[in-house]
Amino acid sequence: MAIDFSFPEEVEQVRTQVRRYCDEIVRPAEAEIAAAEDGPEARKVLVEQVIHMRKTAQEWGLWLPHMPEEFGGMGLGHVAMAAVSAEAAKTRFGPFALNAQAPDEGNMHTLLHWATDAQKDAYLRPLCEGTKRSCFAMTEPEVAGSDPTLIQTHAVERDDHWEINGHKWFISGAAGAQFAILIARTEDDPELPQAANSAFLVDIPSEGWEIVRDVHTMSGGHNHCEIRISGLKVPKENMLGGRGQGHLLGQARLGPARLAHCMRWIGQAEIALEMMIDRSMKRFAHGSLLGEKQGIQWMIADSTMELYQCKLMVLHAAYKIDRKEDFKSEVSMAKHFVANSLNRIIDRAIQVHGALGYSTDTPLAHMATQARWARFADGADEVHQWRIAMRAIEAYTRTGSVTSAAGDLPL
Ligand SMILES: Cc1cc2nc3c(=O)[nH]c(=O)nc-3n(C[C@H](O)[C@H](O)[C@H](O)COP(=O)(O)OP(=O)(O)OC[C@H]3O[C@@H](n4cnc5c(N)ncnc54)[C@H](O)[C@@H]3O)c2cc1C
Repeated sequence: MAIDFSFPEEVEQVRTQVRRYCDEIVRPAEAEIAAAEDGPEARKVLVEQVIHMRKTAQEWGLWLPHMPEEFGGMGLGHVAMAAVSAEAAKTRFGPFALNAQAPDEGNMHTLLHWATDAQKDAYLRPLCEGTKRSCFAMTEPEVAGSDPTLIQTHAVERDDHWEINGHKWFISGAAGAQFAILIARTEDDPELPQAANSAFLVDIPSEGWEIVRDVHTMSGGHNHCEIRISGLKVPKENMLGGRGQGHLLGQARLGPARLAHCMRWIGQAEIALEMMIDRSMKRFAHGSLLGEKQGIQWMIADSTMELYQCKLMVLHAAYKIDRKEDFKSEVSMAKHFVANSLNRIIDRAIQVHGALGYSTDTPLAHMATQARWARFADGADEVHQWRIAMRAIEAYTRTGSVTSAAGDLPL
């Protein structure tokens, strides 16, 4: 039988090593950071601990798991990354400590695929070395982010540069980033609406690139910035990919990046389920432990089944990416399902914890407000459902069967 649900020995070893690294290095560092929070030393402790975590990741050979060895990475494929990311994301700083966090991870893949050699030297290498950080600037407050053909930020070709004007927001990691991948409209009347945009590498700081504010969210401020772009000059050689390829580049970036989010969300969902069970085995009410009550067991059962489905979907989509097969449907379905499961599982965990779950004494409240954006960023639920339905209708109309739209599995 060709179907094998076990990892090769070397991937299993990496996974075990990441778990040990999180237990021995990340969790103690996070405890130090939390203890110093809001105090006068908070910033200093944060910087020290981040350096310590990243340096140790390099020493343990866990640095940059998703990148090829020629860029200093471990060269893991997407299936192996599912194991690493789900493990690392059980902690808050794990993915960042390994230099495998959004948006840098997606930007690295984008640069690896689209950048010229000179662009790789100037932008990709320092990103891989951890000496630069980046952001990805596409969404605008004035038009629906779900439809990038509406982008208004405009680039006009001048003698030796592009002049760009526009407005972006929710640009994650923009404060502290040394460069941005910026999507702007370059074609006024393209043959296809998707071919209106191009991508640019923008050095930060640059005149004409202004961070207006960190947009505060229901989860607080997390460096999702509003950016005003006025008369920004970008050298011609800083166009990334060809003219009119911004949409293509964004889509190519978003597929694996969406799945990378799912891998991290699995780690969070698993933690929430374990917390739910742990609490239910300790809390006593109305003559028995919560875990002995059928109403609570249903929540545990539903969450366990969903977590299982999340893992199967993510592994299958990752397997298709690794085999260079068309993965769009599988990533879409996984992204929708995992995002919604994550929200449901965290919500049930809060329910079982009662007031404690609503408090900030456990990580659940923070996890819930973070999880909420999963349902609309990187493709809103409804947009994925629309695409999934279109593919199912198309498959049925063309072949009389929905098999190819439902994972194309041999069943
Ligand atoms: C935490 C966070 C981080 C982010 N980081 C970045 C970043 O680094 N860079 C960046 O460029 N952007 C980033 N974004 C923005 C994100 O990509 C957008 O929020 C997303 O693309 C949706 O766009 P929008 O918010 O404009 O919502 P809209 O496009 O206005 O959509 C709003 C709602 O309309 C509905 N809808 C839209 N289209 C359809 C349809 N076809 N059918 C049915 N219903 C529909 C959906 O319910 C959707 O949720 C981030 C957002 C968040 C919350």
